[in-house]
Amino acid sequence: PPALAVIGRPNVGKSTLVNRITRSKEAVVEDVPGVTRDRVSYDAEWNGKDFTLVDTGGWEQDARGMHKRVAEQAEMAVDEADAVVFVVDGLVGATAVDEAVVRMLRRKKKPVLLVANKIDAPSQMSEVYSLWNLGLGEPYPVSALHGTGTGDLLDAAVKALPEFAEHGGMIPTGGPRRVALVGRPNVGKSSLLNKLAGSERVVVDSVAGTTMDPVDEFIELGGETWRFVDTAGIRRRQHMASGSEYYAMLRTQRALDKAEVAVVLLSVEEPVSEQDVRIIQMAVDSGRALVVAYNKWDLMDEERRYYLEREVTRDLAHIAWAPRVNVSALTGWHKDKLAPALDTALTSWGRRISTGRLNAFLGELVAATPHPVRGGKQPRILFATQPSTRPPRFVLFTTGFLDPGYRRFITRRLRETFDFTGSPIEVSMRVRE
Ligand code: GDP
Repeated sequence: PPALAVIGRPNVGKSTLVNRITRSKEAVVEDVPGVTRDRVSYDAEWNGKDFTLVDTGGWEQDARGMHKRVAEQAEMAVDEADAVVFVVDGLVGATAVDEAVVRMLRRKKKPVLLVANKIDAPSQMSEVYSLWNLGLGEPYPVSALHGTGTGDLLDAAVKALPEFAEHGGMIPTGGPRRVALVGRPNVGKSSLLNKLAGSERVVVDSVAGTTMDPVDEFIELGGETWRFVDTAGIRRRQHMASGSEYYAMLRTQRALDKAEVAVVLLSVEEPVSEQDVRIIQMAVDSGRALVVAYNKWDLMDEERRYYLEREVTRDLAHIAWAPRVNVSALTGWHKDKLAPALDTALTSWGRRISTGRLNAFLGELVAATPHPVRGGKQPRILFATQPSTRPPRFVLFTTGFLDPGYRRFITRRLRETFDFTGSPIEVSMRVRE
């Protein structure tokens, strides 16, 4: 099962939390700072999903002998985990040691849930808000002692854990970047795959650090190896009389779940169809980076071209941020354009804007174009932060609800200013009284 590691410096209440989660008295609760323990694993379950809960000793960044070993244990636990619960003392806020942990976690690129423990009453929330600054997303206020807040935490934690892949293996993290090639039947997915793979097909065993998965294919593009996920589903063409669209959609969803970037393949042969629209929507909803590719460009003529550009403006306007590549799987024309587009989209997808730059940008924006006054009131934006990447998510702390139009305006300007070509971005609000 997937592993969830619980880390944090000594005395923040990790073991109490682990106790809560396992509902057992197995974990040892310690009051002595810096006591060394090795990692302890428990079988846990939440919402019907099994996982391994890994309890670690405390982390001290700059410590002598014993502490250092504990730090190493914590780092090792993170390396082996699929998601991490990082516990801080919610009454104290983030310490320098916690900030060091954040730097370590950022390097690891694992999903992290930030827990503000020891919040036994709503009146103790004041330090919790400042934890947004750590850039790890929304802090979960929890009282491990009383059990409040742990349900929400676990809901989010099991969501962050990967599903078991079809063949029983885990969804691999790290290694070559993962691409889902999606599109309705006959747009040329398998032809394109063949053209891309060509003679440059990479032998699976030669790719270091990857789990062998016979449903994926490794393809060298632009000097880099890419993992095209679930290509078996493309190669094994489905000729089912009924329900084939249903299975195609299921396959599309599965591929998107496993990928970091989606290539939605369209064909110049026909206008954008309902099925194309549904697939595009699935790709957008997945929160993955996105590239649009128009195939069969060898069939293009003047007249078709005229209509195609009109269709693009009409049907693809909502994903105008996705780079578009025109290709021909038949001739191989422009097949070298795909890798740069994938790279651009993935770079945007992982882009992090520092809190300083973000707030400077917003300050200027609001000064130049203030929020309209509604009913004598004008909500103010107090502070903004980017809690997560892949895809980039932004949170605005405001004194009231922002006009949807104004929110779209901010989103658009964020996109233009920091260049999120090929990545969806999300802007949400937190209204403070
Ligand atoms: P899939 O269902 O998306 O995997 O589509 P296929 O790769 O099986 O292709 C469907 C049909 O389109 C086949 O007859 C291909 O030969 C043809 N095809 C694919 N790519 C191109 C292309 O770039 N140009 C032209 N003219 N035909 C193509």
